[in-house]
Amino acid sequence: MMSDPFAVECSHCGSQYSFDDYIKLKKRAVKQGQVEKYGYNPVCSKCNKPFHKNKWCITTDIFLNNIDKRLHPKYPQKHIWVSTVHLEFYHHGGIYETMFFVIDQKGDRVYSEMYKHYNTKEDATLGHKLICSKIEKEKKLIIMMKDAC
Ligand SMILES: [Zn+2]
Repeated sequence: MMSDPFAVECSHCGSQYSFDDYIKLKKRAVKQGQVEKYGYNPVCSKCNKPFHKNKWCITTDIFLNNIDKRLHPKYPQKHIWVSTVHLEFYHHGGIYETMFFVIDQKGDRVYSEMYKHYNTKEDATLGHKLICSKIEKEKKLIIMMKDAC
C-alpha cells in the first residue's frame, strides 16, 4: 500500500514518486507534431516510459446466454466488458480499479459500474477473476480474456 496518498506510481516499473517529484519529471509529446492538441506525458525517470500510456490492465469480454433482465432492465444487451486497470494515482482506496460495462450492439458502452479498488496487482488480478466468475455463475459464459489493452 502506498504510504503517501498523493503518490504517483509508474504502471510500467512500479517506481513511486511524490506528487512534487512527479510534476518535475521530463515530459514527452503525446503525439509528435501535435503538441498543441494533445500536450505532453510525464516520463518515468527509472524506466523512461510515459505515464498514461499502455498502462497495466486486464480486460475480459463476457457474452451472456441468459441475461438476467432484472440486472439491467434498460440495457438487455448480452455483452459485458470487465476492465481492471492500474490507475497510477491512489483513488478510492486503491491504485488498481475494476469496472464493468454493458456494451450495445454497436459496440458503445451504454452502462458502467465501478466494482472494486485494490492496492496490489495480485489483488487486482484476483478481483478481476472473481467478478468475472461471479458474472459467469449468475449469468453464464465467458468467451475470451486478454492480458493487455
Ligand atoms: Zn517506470
